[in-house]
Amino acid sequence: MFKRWLAPLRRSVRAQLLALVLAPLLIGVPILLALVWTWGNEAYQRLLISKIRADLVIAHEYFDRVKDGIGQELRGVAGSHRLALAYPDGDPVALQQLLKQTLQSTRVDFLQVLDMTGQPVASARGQVRALPDRERWPVVAEAMKGTPGTGIELFGPNELAAIDPALAVRAHTRLVSTPAARPDDRTSEERGLMIHSAAPIRNLAGEVIGVLEGGVLLNGNLDMVDNINAIVYREGSLPLGSQGTATLFLGDTRVATNVKLFENQRALGTRVSEVVYDYVIGQGKIWHDTAFVVNDFYVSGYEPFVDGSGNKVGMLYVGFLEAPLRAAKQTAMGVLFGLFVIISLLGAVVSLRWARAIFRPVEQMNRVIHEVEQGHSAARVGDLKREDELGRVAHEFDHLLDSLATKREQLQQWADELDRKVAERTAELADANETLRRAQQQLVVSEKLAAVGELTAGVAHEINNPVAVIQGNLDVLADILGPQADPVREEIRLIHQQVDRIRQIVTKLLQFARPGEFAGYTEQVDVPSVIADCLVLSRHTLDKRQVKVEVVHAATRKVEINRSELQQVLINLIVNAVQAMAEGGRLTLSSEDWLDGERVIGVRIGVKDTGAGIEDADLNRIFDAFFTTKQGSGTGLGLSISQTLVQRYGGRITADSTPGEGTIFHVWLLCDAVYEEGPSAPGFKARWRFGSN
Ligand code: ADP
Repeated sequence: MFKRWLAPLRRSVRAQLLALVLAPLLIGVPILLALVWTWGNEAYQRLLISKIRADLVIAHEYFDRVKDGIGQELRGVAGSHRLALAYPDGDPVALQQLLKQTLQSTRVDFLQVLDMTGQPVASARGQVRALPDRERWPVVAEAMKGTPGTGIELFGPNELAAIDPALAVRAHTRLVSTPAARPDDRTSEERGLMIHSAAPIRNLAGEVIGVLEGGVLLNGNLDMVDNINAIVYREGSLPLGSQGTATLFLGDTRVATNVKLFENQRALGTRVSEVVYDYVIGQGKIWHDTAFVVNDFYVSGYEPFVDGSGNKVGMLYVGFLEAPLRAAKQTAMGVLFGLFVIISLLGAVVSLRWARAIFRPVEQMNRVIHEVEQGHSAARVGDLKREDELGRVAHEFDHLLDSLATKREQLQQWADELDRKVAERTAELADANETLRRAQQQLVVSEKLAAVGELTAGVAHEINNPVAVIQGNLDVLADILGPQADPVREEIRLIHQQVDRIRQIVTKLLQFARPGEFAGYTEQVDVPSVIADCLVLSRHTLDKRQVKVEVVHAATRKVEINRSELQQVLINLIVNAVQAMAEGGRLTLSSEDWLDGERVIGVRIGVKDTGAGIEDADLNRIFDAFFTTKQGSGTGLGLSISQTLVQRYGGRITADSTPGEGTIFHVWLLCDAVYEEGPSAPGFKARWRFGSN
């Protein structure tokens, strides 16, 4: 799964770079946001707590001041001259009058004078009702001992009614059922939470003779909470329209509060949540935290009221509505988050575009590689107008491709050249093979011919003797018979002729088989005169075929050769030429100097005809022994023997022909013969050829 996610990342460097750039953004920003959120919340909470702590201190101070003020007022009245005049021995009516006046001028809700048994002797309300255990009240007991004091006390409904029925009525608070409050099946709170103050009344001797007792009922004391609220949350001291609230609790019940239940209905009789109650009243701790108050969340501070006996009888509360602050905080956080998100998105987009721009050369190169692989060898990245490293790499890449293309072209050329050379060499090899094959064939033929030659030579010798005997005896026969032989003269002539023919054939055979044995003496031969002799000898043949003869002599030197052998060679060539010109033609005989550079080394004799010519395929074979195209009449030995004869003196015969136009044979002869060494086997010698020079 994870791998599948990472796969595109592994394939693209751009994606990797992008991930590298975006990772801190996408991982770091959420972490940062989480930290900002946590720290922000913590700081916000701390700020609220320290604010509510301060608020509660102010409220507490104010409350204490009110308490102290009441205590002082009572102490002032208790020590006043007017009271000393009226109590204990004065007019009770005047005393009551004095108390009434004092009640009106001070903030206390009741004021009465107690005697030293703790029973009231006069009250500001006029009517005095006996109450048991007045001295059990701590402040009263202390005052009787001579120390004035002020504290918080809970007054029962009877006690309130005994002091002043109106107080009992004021203390009555109808309980409103409140969710999350501690279970309580009462329907009303009848007790009164009182700031209870008492001061000793002394006689002139300074002895305590009575106690001035007074108190401020906190139940329904809206002035008090409004004052606290006004002091703690002065106009404009709370930001963003948050509202400040203050409450006095009797136990867990709101007996004086400016917290609103509805429109203008104060939430009197509603109760604090059980959590707060347990914390503050149960454990006696001060609460600084957000708490659900009546119908909304308030940043709240609660501290317990402790009565003179150390019981926690109620609470002082101040707090302010959290919602506007929370909304402001959430707005700020939202704006912050929004900004972060926008910055991240912008960063991502910019990074994306940037990464794309950075990686364009790499992608281009990748594309070019792909195209080149597809066979578009001309594909290039081109000028990217970038001077950074990647731009230079792309440029070098193009350069590399260019030089690769050049190298490939060169390689192709070399390969073509190599192919051509291989073909050439193969052809040469085939040629050489063909030559070898022919040589082998020739060798076989030569060897056969050598054997035949040996045989022929033997046979010729054997035949020569009987032929000589026949000829000799025939002559003897003719001589002896004399005229008697006349009737068979013609037959004798024919026998002579045929025997001579036998001799000639045998001689030729012998000459072919053992040319060395027939080598005669050599001399300096004048070529034109030999040619002239040959023409005389072949005149008959030439005339018969109506061949015109032309002779061109330019040779300046004689050649070294056996004259009759040269004659034999030339006559053979002339006869061949005439035979090639069945319908007549022109025979050109020529002689010219054979030059080696400037030096005349011999004579070249030309025998040219305008005959049928020789096919290219045959031209290579005409000097082979027994090669003939004249089936039946030719022996195929003429040129072979002629070549052998000429070569013996260091010369050679070459032929050149155009089929249909004619042939020219050249006989190359040296002025000073160079005798060839080596085997004289006619077959071997006969294979020497100079088909074209
Ligand atoms: P032969 O004449 O008995 O055939 P050669 O050795 O003299 O034997 O000649 C060999 C062959 O060369 C001939 O059969 C002929 O085909 C060819 N040849 C020789 N000379 C000529 C020529 N002048 N014109 C055409 N073909 C020639």
